Amino acid sequence: MAVLWLEDVDADDVGTVGGKAASLGELIGAGLPVPPGFAVTAGTYRTFIEEAGIDEELFSAVDVDPEDSAALRAAEERAEELILETPFPDEVREEILERYRKMGDEDDEAFVAVRSSATAEDLPDSSFAGQQETFLNVREDDLLRRVKECWASLFTQRAIYYRQQRGFPHADVDIAVVVQRMVDAEKSGVMFTSHPSTGDPQITIEAAWGLGEAVVSGTVSPDNYVYDRERGEVEDVTVADKKVEMVKDAETGETVQLDVDDERRTARVLSDAEIDELVALGERVEDHYGAPQDVEWAIHEGEIYMLQSRPITTIQEDAGEEDDADAGGTGGETPRKSAVGDAASGPPGAAGAGSPGDDADVLVDGLGASPGVVSGAVRIVHKLDHLDQVQEGDVMVTEMTMPDMVPAMKRAAGIVTDEGGMTSHAAIISRELGVPAVVGTGNGTRLLEDGQQVTIDGDKGTVRAGVDDEAEPGEEFEPVEAARPETPVKPMTATEVKVNVSIPEAAERAAATGADGVGLLRIEHMVLSLGKTPERYIDEHGARAYQDELIEGVRRVADEFYPRPVRVRTIDAPTDEFSELEGGEGEPNEHNPMLGWRGIRRSLDKPGPFRQELAAFARLFDMGYDNLEVMFPLVNDAADVEAITGHMRDAGIDPETHRWGVMIETPASALQIEELANAGIDFASFGTNDLTQYTLAVDRNNEHVADRFDELHPAVLKLIGDTIETCRELGVDTSICGQAGSKPEMVDFLVDEGVSSISANIDAVRDVQHEVKRTEQRLLLDSVR
Ligand code: PEP
Ligand code: MG
Repeated sequence: MAVLWLEDVDADDVGTVGGKAASLGELIGAGLPVPPGFAVTAGTYRTFIEEAGIDEELFSAVDVDPEDSAALRAAEERAEELILETPFPDEVREEILERYRKMGDEDDEAFVAVRSSATAEDLPDSSFAGQQETFLNVREDDLLRRVKECWASLFTQRAIYYRQQRGFPHADVDIAVVVQRMVDAEKSGVMFTSHPSTGDPQITIEAAWGLGEAVVSGTVSPDNYVYDRERGEVEDVTVADKKVEMVKDAETGETVQLDVDDERRTARVLSDAEIDELVALGERVEDHYGAPQDVEWAIHEGEIYMLQSRPITTIQEDAGEEDDADAGGTGGETPRKSAVGDAASGPPGAAGAGSPGDDADVLVDGLGASPGVVSGAVRIVHKLDHLDQVQEGDVMVTEMTMPDMVPAMKRAAGIVTDEGGMTSHAAIISRELGVPAVVGTGNGTRLLEDGQQVTIDGDKGTVRAGVDDEAEPGEEFEPVEAARPETPVKPMTATEVKVNVSIPEAAERAAATGADGVGLLRIEHMVLSLGKTPERYIDEHGARAYQDELIEGVRRVADEFYPRPVRVRTIDAPTDEFSELEGGEGEPNEHNPMLGWRGIRRSLDKPGPFRQELAAFARLFDMGYDNLEVMFPLVNDAADVEAITGHMRDAGIDPETHRWGVMIETPASALQIEELANAGIDFASFGTNDLTQYTLAVDRNNEHVADRFDELHPAVLKLIGDTIETCRELGVDTSICGQAGSKPEMVDFLVDEGVSSISANIDAVRDVQHEVKRTEQRLLLDSVR
């Protein structure tokens, strides 16, 4: 049989219909109302290539050198051509079309989603193996082609690369396809089957008119219904003003946004009977999975459908033991207050020991990017290599680190890169992990040898031959303890001293420094480590899942610091980083991505993912994280700010009542500070990594000009000084969150100029606190002398 109805399969059928189809079948089997559909089995793909006789040619076309990118590209094209141009056997074509037609009405063709469904025989990590194709709103004309496109997704360059690298035969891999009816909803929304923070037996339903995208993306404020499962009654109903709705254009199948007519705008979306039905569904789903769920649902012609169900990830583990201050409330959550204070002392870090060696021993040198001296065996890692080869205590040597290398970076005793400056990914992440690092060596991967014993000095920026006895990676090295100040007394300063965080895993280490808050929380790492572009991730997993990922990361930091403020920044990754991800094939190829389509420019041009970031922040505000502030990168002028505030309002974040601000990273933004202040910013934060590169025309990631990268250049200082002066006149707070905030000379200058706060690297916080205090006291003394 070429095709199987979803209702005829279950979790045991992964080998036949792939994981996606098997889990949908399982839900249908549990009596849950999943939209109908069928799977084109993995065997059908196999018979297709074998009967048409293209199998041998296909497998030999993709048997190429994985390091040869031209050959990889040609292999992908040839495989796609072979699959797309080979006609379907008649009986398979008929079977697929016959099933499809059964899903439509008499005279209306069904709109379906067509998705690849990976089988268990493939690599364990199928996200790297491709096979993630999804096509929405497909009709009969395109259906067969889309099925073949899913098959062809077995042979993307990335998938070919991985199988070739690991010696996994292409002939052993099969793929199935799911074809499922799309629900043209009149009303839809989301439901939490238990309280999303405390886990209490309380169901929260959000509902709006039309398709679910409007609720999930935060475009519309939905009605909110709270149901007490213990008492079995609706406890609270809040009817929102629902200005817009998303509907499907009957002709094109595209989703369009319409104004809601006056009558329905303030009308209740769900009747009591519908709430009862949703509640019953919610309880069944939770029972089936044995854990609270976050469900996307839709209602079409009186029928409820379950589109997706995911476990709620935000329930606090210790929620049950806490006093629930807002039990019986309207769904607001109180963030847990961190117990991490600034008073405890701990042992000094183990990685700082070590004696300087002979210059003659220096094998390669670069920039000392993360302090500490450590010895270990070299492990060379190339871009798409497998990272499990980096063992605890190795010195990882690579061209440049990437987000998916972080687990390996954590295991490594030290890190050496060919490329990058002090503000590169490798430098930032190693500092946060507390792993000594030398970056921008130019030729480390060529000069060092796998297995060779070396000692790296992350202060001096050298890699020496041999082992330094005092620099063995200490088993007792405890990153959090190492970040804790040795003396419990924190210098009291009028200028606040905060800390920068780029990976949520570093939250505890950052909080242990006793900093006054987080001056910059980057979200790039949270996004890039998903392995897919935001657009691709949202296509495949839904907008809410994307928001959930961000919420999980931001929350980890916001919890750790509460009630100290945390400034979270919207995404700022350059196109060359997006192009490394799945779905990044179409990224523009820019001559200098640093001058290109990044930061707020990209967010405003292509606001889909940007809206989800804001929707995630809005949800965090709703959960009670009133310590969050939102910051926007690479802003140039007031026009950018006008566009930003429009998006904030759309997402339900009122710029008047929430604290938000911009980075000062371009000379334009410094020169336009008065206009930015008048446009309503609460704070301006100097991103000196970018401000220096744009003022001096020195690419921050280019090791050839690294010696010209000078954050203390008079031109940079003049822009900063003038901006602080204007901000003080206009009542706007100023801060620094670039790398230079960790330098004593910059700290002196900023305190002199009257900056409101300074945000430093984890390892520099305590020194900066002392430096600030010294400068403040000098200023006081000067004033009385
Ligand atoms: C900066 O430009 O100084 C900054 C903090 O932003 P990023 O390093 O993320 O570009
Ligand atoms: Mg920047």
